[in-house]
Amino acid sequence: MDPIPCLGCGIFFKPRNKLQGYCSHPDCQRARKALWQRQKLANDPEYAQGQKLSNSKWLATRPNYWKNYRSQNSEKTARNRVLQRIRNRAKARTDKGLDTSRHVGIAKMDARKPLINGLSGEFWLVPMIAKMDAVKIFIAAIPGDPG
Ligand SMILES: [Zn+2]
Repeated sequence: MDPIPCLGCGIFFKPRNKLQGYCSHPDCQRARKALWQRQKLANDPEYAQGQKLSNSKWLATRPNYWKNYRSQNSEKTARNRVLQRIRNRAKARTDKGLDTSRHVGIAKMDARKPLINGLSGEFWLVPMIAKMDAVKIFIAAIPGDPG
């Protein structure tokens, strides 16, 4: 078969059959399995229930897991807090019937200027694709810059 771009990394590889979309790199296989599980959780309530039970049993044997995780991964914790705030805002808007599109975070072109004006500090660039890593950036105002 002709080489095709991997759905995970985008690098061309020779698939073993026409259904194969991911190369054999461990990161791409992890992405493929994670996608499979997300789809399975969304479409199979019995599987979702089993996973939920399994996860809660696992967590019950490790009572400080999340506390330890947060103290050892401060960057990820900060990112998760930002993402949760975005999800909460999206849910609040959806609950009020203001926004059913779920495309929260897409800036309105006309809203850009006032937001950027005088803005400085540390921020997270959060991709709309949930499993991609967010990037921490620092915005500093340049003296004399009009906008
Ligand atoms: Zn790949």
